[in-house]
Amino acid sequence: MSHVDHDDGKRPVLTAHPLQRVGAYALAFLGGARTPEHLAPSAFDDAVGILTEDALRAALVRDTKHDQGFWLKASMSFFPNSKMNHPSNAKKDDEEIRTAVRAWRRCPEPGTWPEAACVLCGRAAVGFYGKKDVPLAESDVYRNTTPRGHQGMALCWPCLCCFYALPYGCRLTGGPSIALHSWDERFMSRTVSRRVERSRQFIALGTADPRGGSDRETLALRALRDHDDRLTAGVELLVFSNNNRGQTLEIQSMDQPLAEWLRLSARLPARRRGFRALLRAHARPGRPGVVGLARNAFRFTELIAGACARYLTRHLDRGVIRSDSADLAELCFSLVIEVMRMNQNEIDEIRAAGGQVAAWLTAENSAGKLREFNATLKEPKRMRHWLMRRNLDALLDSRTSVAGPLITEEQFRLLFDPEVEQAWFHRQLLVVSVVQRLHEQGFRPADRAEIAAELAAEEQDQPEDLVFASDEKES
Ligand SMILES: [Zn+2]
Repeated sequence: MSHVDHDDGKRPVLTAHPLQRVGAYALAFLGGARTPEHLAPSAFDDAVGILTEDALRAALVRDTKHDQGFWLKASMSFFPNSKMNHPSNAKKDDEEIRTAVRAWRRCPEPGTWPEAACVLCGRAAVGFYGKKDVPLAESDVYRNTTPRGHQGMALCWPCLCCFYALPYGCRLTGGPSIALHSWDERFMSRTVSRRVERSRQFIALGTADPRGGSDRETLALRALRDHDDRLTAGVELLVFSNNNRGQTLEIQSMDQPLAEWLRLSARLPARRRGFRALLRAHARPGRPGVVGLARNAFRFTELIAGACARYLTRHLDRGVIRSDSADLAELCFSLVIEVMRMNQNEIDEIRAAGGQVAAWLTAENSAGKLREFNATLKEPKRMRHWLMRRNLDALLDSRTSVAGPLITEEQFRLLFDPEVEQAWFHRQLLVVSVVQRLHEQGFRPADRAEIAAELAAEEQDQPEDLVFASDEKES
């Protein structure tokens, strides 16, 4: 084992373990430093002192149901059955508990250190640590770190203290905790510092965050919105519990391009209006749009584009183009270009086709025709047929106000060729661009009121149904 100098033994280093990294940043902030590298040895001791004092205060509460029992309760998901929250504390006096908690959180004497290196950073380990001290989350990612014959991981003192500081860098719910992680160090530094500020209050007060904890994905969206700089890496959401009743770890990831797009969309003045429409497009009764958007962002990018298309087409049946259509459509295309990296030529082709269809619909000035087009969306065959029909009409009718064919051969290929894997997505984009162009052209069809009335009539109960449902006997 190499010689470890005194200072080096009191400085957390960033390792490959996401939760250790969150804890390292949290420890740094508690010591008044921006990053773990900036944490001086004396500040390291101060930070560890804060952790111990907070643990002590919680331990003396003894009862998790007490008004100030929140941190004690939350600690069960980090340090189950430790000296801090051991069931036997109920019968112990204050002094006994103080002594036990201090001993638990003290660096072991060098004479007791094992001949082992810290599994995370390689420095001299001060002992082996199990789930009483470290979340040993049940995930393949973290397996195989426990040496044969030992109940835990070999850890050095700073790495161990990072795990003691981890709760401060998490959203504490009392149940599973939520941590946001990224390999973008600047993002980590800012996000964890904000989190530490909040968590420290609740840990000190022993009360829960009144904002609740159910919307885990929105945590990521808020952090992205609050970040000033371009992201250099994606973000991960870690939801974990070290509780005796079951250790869990769930990891959700968002790639850098999408994370950066969401950050820009929430911040850039030019995209703000589109972003508000994006949230509207993801809203459901009883569920805010931000939750739906955040969930989609951790699943498939295509789901976001799909939600935009559905929102934009929702009222086409009535010949109504929403006032926020153009902004949302533009935002949708930025997603396709910046995140999905779709070929620019193909996008141009599809937008050109959308422009032609919109021009034709505007010339017809008919909500009925728009409704007809909208009805083809669910069936590629019908859409194809509709477009071919309009193409023929345009060729045969010299009065047509649309120059050239409605759709070119290349555009047909992009939209309907079974060889084109993304054809279904291209059709969604076609609709997005049609709606965008109709909005730009101020589409207000003459028969709008008529169609709306027709639809309203269709939605009314059929006379037969009314009779069937009434008590009248049939003659
Ligand atoms: Zn270490």
